[in-house]
Order: sequence, then structure tokens, then C-alpha cells
Amino acid sequence: MDEHSVLREAISGRREDLIGLTRDLIGFATLNPPGLQYLEICEYLADRLSSKGFEIEMVRAKGALADSESYPRWNLVARRAGPRPGDCVHFNSHHDIGEVGHGWSKDPFAGTVEDGRIYGRGACDMKGGLATSIIAAEAFIDCNPDFAGAIEISATADEESGGYGGVAYLAERGYFDPDRVQHVIIPEPLNKDRICLGHRGVWWAEIETHGRIAHGSMPFLGDCAVRHMGAVLQEMEEVLFPVLAGRSTAMPVVPDGARHPSLNINAIHGGEPEQAEDYTGLPAPCVPDRCRITIDRRFILEENLGDVKAEIAALIEAVKARRPGFTYEIHDLFEVQPTMTDREAPVVKTVGDAIQAVLGRQPDFVVSPGTYDQKHIDRIGRLKNCIAYGPGILDLAHQPDEWIGIDDMTDSATVMALTLRELLGKE
Ligand SMILES: [Zn+2]
Repeated sequence: MDEHSVLREAISGRREDLIGLTRDLIGFATLNPPGLQYLEICEYLADRLSSKGFEIEMVRAKGALADSESYPRWNLVARRAGPRPGDCVHFNSHHDIGEVGHGWSKDPFAGTVEDGRIYGRGACDMKGGLATSIIAAEAFIDCNPDFAGAIEISATADEESGGYGGVAYLAERGYFDPDRVQHVIIPEPLNKDRICLGHRGVWWAEIETHGRIAHGSMPFLGDCAVRHMGAVLQEMEEVLFPVLAGRSTAMPVVPDGARHPSLNINAIHGGEPEQAEDYTGLPAPCVPDRCRITIDRRFILEENLGDVKAEIAALIEAVKARRPGFTYEIHDLFEVQPTMTDREAPVVKTVGDAIQAVLGRQPDFVVSPGTYDQKHIDRIGRLKNCIAYGPGILDLAHQPDEWIGIDDMTDSATVMALTLRELLGKE
């Protein structure tokens, strides 16, 4: 039998194990925020992987953003070295999940199996991907006990909230240094026949307009911060949005609509704070002296962050020039550089060849509209040979009745095992 058939058979033989493992992982309600059951899921994985000969490190991101005694940010790093020297292939999955939300017809933590699918919050994003990489590694090791190099599997915290208590913390401590790890695969749900090379950049900022409070019956004695903000938003509508729509990227971002820079107004608030629910009276008449928006600007490789910020500043300055008394502040909240792994990078070529061998078609190369933990591996770890590749269907992430297809998982596990064979299995 050829390598591909040997590995496919080894993975078919583990189908029930794969289903059970995925269901067990879904059973941990690792909701973030606030970050629940992180220790429990890491301990479960530690038991599983140590019984398969992996060395285990449990790493709490002490002092990281959101880490506390009530909600400790636990991570697991498992490593299995082969008997010969060689490269290290690292599979990184986040173990946290976003909120459950409404509209479910299934129990989000039961891992219900129906018609070849496993349902649950995190089934596709990304406990199914984590389980797939574990089964792929175990099957590969059983078929190739004398493999070269090492395999690492990590389950990390807080991807859903920026990854500071997870991959960023590990990257700062050398876990993704290129002399330790040479290839990284992140089994995020990007579909089993697609390779995700990277993501667009992000800039979040708060823009605040200032006015002067006065009685609402005599607004001419005050200065309305909400009207100033209205002028800023109008300038965005008339000037900025058309400019952004006219800019395109050569990055293969999916969906197509994201092949332009984008700007979302995430939130707006001006004037009196919302009253407590048990307050039954009327609001007071005041001219608002503060109005604040949060913007979410996604930028492309062809733009740079300095220009992105300067463009917003120039727009607001143009408004200021027309409005006497107008003042404002811009506060940076969060920024991520765009990243895109080269199509000729070893991990890209190897996974691409494996997709061709297993699925009989060329992979699609895509870029994600939003970011994921590759940003930390790229910027802090300085490791460029990194992709996202996993079996889930991207559109189902964070939706009610999220599911993952069992055949998609076994196909993808075969791709991953064949990738390991190619990178670590050669004589
Ligand atoms: Zn995810």
C-alpha cells in the first residue's frame, strides 16, 4: 500500500475515537469571556496525550490580560520527539469558545451526533480541528514510530479575545521561536480543501468629540458633542467609504467583499448614560458634552498602519476646520499588522500536495478577513512558516447549531498525517 492509503486506513480505524474525543472537548464549556474550564480541558488533554507518549507542559499565563485567580488562563503544550533529529511541526488550536447565543435546537455542550455531523458550540471553531490534529498525529506516530524531529500539539487560551493569555504569552516565552518550531498549522475552520495564508490588519480606536453641557431648552448656550460626531460620520460617508471601496488588495481574502479595506463603527455613545432598568422616570434635558465612537478599521497589505491612522486624523481635521469650537481625541485601542505566508513556504507546499493527494484537487489559497493567532506567531515568534488549515466550515463559526462533519474531519486528519509523513517521515 502507498503511504496515503496506510494513513487513511489508520485514521478510518480511529473514527470512533475521533468522534468521542470531539464530543468530550465540546463537553467543556470553555466560554470566553470570562474563561471557564480552561484548567479542566487542559488536564483532560494532558491525560490523553501523556498516555500516547507526549511530554506535557501546563502553562498558566500569569499576569497576562484577563488572567486572575478566579479565571486563570491555562494553556497546554504537548511534545513528542522522534528517535531521529529533524524539524518540529506544531499544531496550535485555541480551546476557548465564544458565547452560545440564541437560536439553538441542540444542546450546545452535548456533542450530539446526527447525520454524520457533531453539533455543539466550538464544534467547528475549533474543537473539531483540535481533535483532528490529535488523531492525525497519533495515527502518523503509530505508522512511523522512527520519525524524525518532533510533533507539538498546543491547546491555548483566549484566541476569541485576542490571544494575550494564550499564543501571545507562549510566543513571548520562546515556544514559537524558529529554532524550536519550524512549521505551524492552526486547524481553524477554513474548510478542508483551503489553505489560509494569513489575515488583514486591524486598527481599533476610540474617537471622542467634545462639547459643553447646558440646559436642553437652551442648546445655543452649550455645544453639542453629538452634532460634532454627526459631522464626523457624514464626512466618513461622503469621503472615506467611497475611497475604501475603491482600494483593492492582491491578498486572496474570502469572502470577496473583504478584498477591500473596511471600516465598521462598532459602537456609538453620546450624552447621558443609559439609566438603570429599575429607574422608571424620564431623562434630564442636557446638551451632551461628550460623544464617542469605536471604530474597527481592517486594512490590507498594500496599506500601512501609519497611513491608515493619518487618513482618519486628516478627515477629522477637515471637519474641525469647518466647525468653530470643535475639539476631539483619538485613542488607539488595538492594532495588528496584516500577514500573509509565502505560497512557496514549506508548510504551504506540503499541505497543498497532501490536499491534492487526499482530495484529488488543488487547494484554494485564502486569506482571512479577521485575525487569529497567526499574528502572534508571526510578530512575536518571528516564525513565517505558518498557515491555518482545518476541517470546519468557516461560515458556521459562532452560529447557532454549529457543527462539524465527521468525514471532513477524517479527510483533514489524513491531509495532516500525510503532511507529517512528508515533513518528518523521510528516511
Ligand atoms: Zn477560532
